[in-house]
Amino acid sequence: MDKKELEELKQKLFNKKENGWNSKTNQEKQEIFDYSKGYIDYMNISKTEREIIYNSEKIAIENGFKDIKDVKDLNPGDKVYWNNRGKSMYLAIIGKNNIEDGLNIIGSHADSPRLDLKPNPLYEDSDFAYFKTHYYGGIKKYQWTAIPLSIHGVIVKTNGEKIFVSIGEDRDDPIFTITDLLPHLAQDQMKKKLSEGIEGEDLNLLIGNIPFDTDIPEAVKLNILNILNEKYGITEKDLLSSELELVPAMLCRSMGFDNSMIAGYGQDDKICVYASLTALMEIQNPEKTAICIISDKEEIGSMGNTGMESHVFDTFISEILNKLNINRPNLLEKVFCNSKMLSADVDVGLDPIYSSVSEKNNACYLSRGIALNKYTGARGKSGASDANAEFVAEIRKIFENYNIKYQFGELGKVDVGGGGTIAYILANKGIEVIDCGVPVLSMHSPYEVTSKLDLYEAYRGYKAFWKNA
Ligand code: MN
Ligand code: MN
Repeated sequence: MDKKELEELKQKLFNKKENGWNSKTNQEKQEIFDYSKGYIDYMNISKTEREIIYNSEKIAIENGFKDIKDVKDLNPGDKVYWNNRGKSMYLAIIGKNNIEDGLNIIGSHADSPRLDLKPNPLYEDSDFAYFKTHYYGGIKKYQWTAIPLSIHGVIVKTNGEKIFVSIGEDRDDPIFTITDLLPHLAQDQMKKKLSEGIEGEDLNLLIGNIPFDTDIPEAVKLNILNILNEKYGITEKDLLSSELELVPAMLCRSMGFDNSMIAGYGQDDKICVYASLTALMEIQNPEKTAICIISDKEEIGSMGNTGMESHVFDTFISEILNKLNINRPNLLEKVFCNSKMLSADVDVGLDPIYSSVSEKNNACYLSRGIALNKYTGARGKSGASDANAEFVAEIRKIFENYNIKYQFGELGKVDVGGGGTIAYILANKGIEVIDCGVPVLSMHSPYEVTSKLDLYEAYRGYKAFWKNA
């Protein structure tokens, strides 16, 4: 064989891995940039799971979705949703086919690692007022000091009044921060392991310094409570029934001289929420019923009544069967056994600075397209839902037919670690599931990085799945 023939053979037989920008036309690049603007805007008003659900419900209603509780009968083409306590949501577009043939599901999660306030958060020390916190999800604690933080969430009074809090996002708002030790006096701290340099009990949010005009004990705390009372009409006790979350007070923004990337908080997994939600909005009259899940509590194990382990999702599907007037015993289980799902969660992107944790042949790379994990789990696939080869082939076929850029990888080297998603929970119901999301750098940090190309391929890939699976 001559050199040219060898090159051709290589082209034919190799799984070519390349930067996806190579094959995009100028018009396609423009589409990618335009689409990512919508994502950045959505991210900047959706820092928490409650804000994601609030904004996503609005988008759904604008696109003709109705609350399933307000619908009596369902017919093909109908669009309905179930808002689960403002923290998770399930959406459906009823298909033309018999629903017994199964659902096409895409599921992501809206919660992200953050700092929550403790039930009794407020205290004073040395003329400073502080909020105590308890971190939520897997964080590197040192990353959360010395950055601007905002407070989001709700305070619910015993009379049922719900006060929505969002402070620190507007330019005119104050922000908050957790202080760190100056390097001049940090000799002992700097000798500690990175995991111990900042302790959980030291993640205390600095919130005030002015005493309430008299010389009484805890006068700074009193002043803060007085401000909160004037602003929100609450007392210290009302903080017991609150859910207040601290998130980075930093904008999600376009990144790089070439504007190729996006930097922002909470892209795990709000990037897959946005890609799947916007894809669903473009589906009309599908063959199979299209289901979109926006889940909560994934970062702490999916437990609780808004997490994926709860049975509220099953109830939503049962309600669909009821309102199609076809429900009967065991139909729900049968529907699940015939269903297919993309578990839309982010994946680790290879970071050349930390490449030693990845195995290069099985790492996912930014800008090489949507990332699929046949299995997740850690050290020997422990706890993994391992997608069946037959199903993997089906997904490949769809993506290849639609020219979706995709890549397969693992989350890190075999013995180094691993992760989990909601995939196994749905797989346990009998659904065919594979993890399929966007690769991320600096995952779980206050400022995660993604590629605009991968976001767009996820959106296109999800749309192709709903139309063709
Ligand atoms: Mn995730
Ligand atoms: Mn995560």
